Amino acid sequence: MRIGVLAVQGSFSLHARIINKLDIETVEVRRTSDLDNLNGIIIPGGESTTFQIILDASDLGSELRRELRAGLPAWGTCAGAIMLGHSEGNPPGWGLIDIEVFRNDYGRQVDSFVAPLRIKGFTEKFDGVFIRAPRFRNPGRGVEILAEYNGLPVMARQGNLLITSFHPELTSDLHVHRYFISELCTRLNKDHLKSA
Ligand code: GLN
Repeated sequence: MRIGVLAVQGSFSLHARIINKLDIETVEVRRTSDLDNLNGIIIPGGESTTFQIILDASDLGSELRRELRAGLPAWGTCAGAIMLGHSEGNPPGWGLIDIEVFRNDYGRQVDSFVAPLRIKGFTEKFDGVFIRAPRFRNPGRGVEILAEYNGLPVMARQGNLLITSFHPELTSDLHVHRYFISELCTRLNKDHLKSA
């Protein structure tokens, strides 16, 4: 099992540390060859405008999108979710998961907060850390909502794609990372590698 973490900017090293803690090989993805033979990829929080500039400066963005369309399991946290969803403006989301994503819609840095979340299938509540987080709205019918906050989705999944508007890598709770590995990377991997 090899999990990539997009490492062009943002909180990639914290995700990589957690994946290593789970005894899984981690690849910091900075060039297209780093995408080879991955079982999944995490697109971390950071600054989505910066992601876009860096990804579009080489083939990495287009190659990553091609892999995601081919079924590579991916989890976008916060800025990563902005890249995966439908968002207008700067940057325009890739529209790979059928949900609208509004940047910075929970407020500015000073409005950051932690909220206990009920996540579908989890027995314990999970502390969601929200930092200039995007709001998710208008999920399509194929999107499974896994957690809500104040009546709006904050964790959602469609096929090989998972998004959270909060930052599980900033807590010591490994459940969301475990969920990504077991529910997306392990189960979907065979199909992905067949079609790749
Ligand atoms: N607000 C940032 C953006 O628009 C995302 C913030 C985060 O990832 N914590 O990209």
